[in-house]
Amino acid sequence: MKPYAVSEQNSLGRINDEPKSPLRNEFQRDRDRIIHSSAFRRLMYKTQVFVNHEGDMFRTRLTHSLEVAQISRGIARCLGLNEDLAETIALAHDLGHSPFGHAGQDALNKCMQDYGGFEHNLQSLRVVDLLEKRYFNFNGLNLTFESREGILKHCSTKNAKQLGALGERFIHKTQPSLEAQVVDLADGIAYNIHDLEDGYRSGILNIDMMCEIGLFKQFFSEVKLIAKCASEKIIVYETLRRMMYFLINNVSTESEKKISSSNISQINEVRQLNKPLIGFGKDAELELTQCRQSLKTMLYQHKRIQQMSTQAHEIIQLLFDHYLNCIELIPKDYQVDVNPERAVADFISGMTDRFAIQLHKSL
Ligand code: MG
Repeated sequence: MKPYAVSEQNSLGRINDEPKSPLRNEFQRDRDRIIHSSAFRRLMYKTQVFVNHEGDMFRTRLTHSLEVAQISRGIARCLGLNEDLAETIALAHDLGHSPFGHAGQDALNKCMQDYGGFEHNLQSLRVVDLLEKRYFNFNGLNLTFESREGILKHCSTKNAKQLGALGERFIHKTQPSLEAQVVDLADGIAYNIHDLEDGYRSGILNIDMMCEIGLFKQFFSEVKLIAKCASEKIIVYETLRRMMYFLINNVSTESEKKISSSNISQINEVRQLNKPLIGFGKDAELELTQCRQSLKTMLYQHKRIQQMSTQAHEIIQLLFDHYLNCIELIPKDYQVDVNPERAVADFISGMTDRFAIQLHKSL
């Protein structure tokens, strides 16, 4: 590993000291704690874009997280960074996501607007710091500082002020570890590519629509020339694979350049910078932005997806009002906050789509 990678030697450690494991390094240990957590299992039934019951073909939060982990490991390995840490952060990055994807998070944020709001990144941190209960001497999973730093991808300044060392970078506008930066970009690569695939499988996106995306069009024409007899589906998959390879390769080579021209030699220097060192080249960045915008208008704002969003808002608002009136119905494990509104948000955000739908029906 490179000297500026996070290592056990330069790690800032855990809040509660624990004896070292003879079998695994500290970051592998964090990863294993995440995999065994109940919040991780529930990702299986949480929406990425399509609600879980719409079909078994589509991504869920769980498979999304696995894809982000795979991409993160690859980039981290290429750059000589801490692969275990990158994997850990990726697997945990969406643990705090509410049911029904972004619609669910918006709905919960709206319910919580007078009580401090709801941010899913901050919620992921709450899950690993407080809400998972599996140890007799502390709440949460007692992860290393570096895993927690990576999980907290974004945070408002107001909330950052209450987080001590972990929040400082949002106040000073500085950067987290390179491993955290890698996962941030891997997340974007993963969802742009897999949302195109799921959008295509669902029938919402067709070839003409996808060809409005420059990067797709470029690789699609390339593949079509060499795979003339292949089915449309195979050509689309091959195109998406090439797009993904291009983006991963671009991040790896461009980041390598940025790292070497920055002359950093240790992690402290990475954390003092005001700009990330992991990033795409200018052209690839523009292509990806265009892809994201097209997905927004063609897929995320499509009426079939929007219908689900409207339902999600209704369900979450009703559950929120109900549980705020009957706070005693919330399981004890979720009552870690003195504010009843926060306890309700913790409970609802932990729900899977189907659990929320069932509860809503029963009310
Ligand atoms: Mg994600």
